[in-house]
Amino acid sequence: MAKSIFETTIGAFEDRMMLRRRMLKVTGVEMKKRRIPEVIEDEIRDSIINCYECKSGDACMTWLEKAEKGAPPPEFCPNRDTILRIKSMGHTDEIEK
Ligand code: SF4
Repeated sequence: MAKSIFETTIGAFEDRMMLRRRMLKVTGVEMKKRRIPEVIEDEIRDSIINCYECKSGDACMTWLEKAEKGAPPPEFCPNRDTILRIKSMGHTDEIEK
């Protein structure tokens, strides 16, 4: 039986959120330990929309398959600046050297 438009839309959204989670993890973003400033919370919310609307899903998947832990996000990721900003504020799982 064919999927409903609802199932198709939810499936596409879940696929993108999986890519987003993988991107945050491989680039070393960690947001559990400290309170996140409101401005960053807004950016995090926007990153969900950016990811859902991103036209680079295939390139993202390919990049994620090869990326090493701690790699900076790729230039084509619309969430690149947000990820780098969050990490620069100390929300990272990387150990300072
Ligand atoms: S490249 Fe696109 S799909 Fe991949 S994490 Fe960034 S915004 Fe999401």
